[in-house]
Amino acid sequence: MAVQAAPPDAEARRAVAPVMVYPPDTLPSVDLPALHAARAGWTRIASIRIEPRTAKAFALPRGHFFRILSVEGPQVGDLNLWAADDLSERFYSGKTRALHGTHVTTGDRLWSTLPHLRPMATITEDSLDWYGRDAFGCGVHDVIGTRCDPYTHRMLAGADYDRCCHSNLTRALAERTGRPRVEVEPLVHDVLNVFMCTGLDRETGRYVMKASPVRPGDFIEFFAEIDLLAALSACPGGDCGSEHSSDAAPCHPLEVEIYRSARPPAGRAMPARNAYAGGHGA
Ligand SMILES: [Zn+2]
Repeated sequence: MAVQAAPPDAEARRAVAPVMVYPPDTLPSVDLPALHAARAGWTRIASIRIEPRTAKAFALPRGHFFRILSVEGPQVGDLNLWAADDLSERFYSGKTRALHGTHVTTGDRLWSTLPHLRPMATITEDSLDWYGRDAFGCGVHDVIGTRCDPYTHRMLAGADYDRCCHSNLTRALAERTGRPRVEVEPLVHDVLNVFMCTGLDRETGRYVMKASPVRPGDFIEFFAEIDLLAALSACPGGDCGSEHSSDAAPCHPLEVEIYRSARPPAGRAMPARNAYAGGHGA
């Protein structure tokens, strides 16, 4: 409900057409055929099962492919990525959203935080790319949401819940690095919401979610552009059709498969850290 009276030219101001902030043709191009060709004769080197309401961290060497698969039933996953040699460089969901849109699919990339700002991974296949946008404006694999966390739950529900994705990712990162939980918790960051079906309500702009259309056998596949450490949580929200931050929703495991390419894409250099000179006008 507006508190202020609209100015006389309110409609004229509203009628100004928007421009796209980062038009797709201005982004560095992705050679998808070369990446797809690099899958021929690949070898699966690891298969990792993420049990419901838990997370695991794992290494993804540069030039490898990895898939996140739905097994047994609809399930949402919360993905974090770090540069393996510097955990302060991590996935930047906000800039990825600005560059590619609220939901990502084949050909889109997951970008790292400033001052690095380089592609960490490129999406090479998405079995749910048929979904597009539904009548509610919702899509799959969002970079709008953050991750379910015990602090928000405490604030809103007044109770403690220990199996939120934030906590699962924190435990997984502590276990993987051998560092204390309090030390690694600040490294956990806003996620790629894998398989989650979400949107922004057209009237209010509020974040909405609905049961994921993912089914066993569905997957999203990535090419690791740099050496990565990743962590994936099987969200306590299950298909995120109703609630998370509780044990109420039916949950299923997720699987991660890592593949070594027999013929890595030729002539493909590792993305360098961003070349901005760093003066900041000082
Ligand atoms: Zn979650």
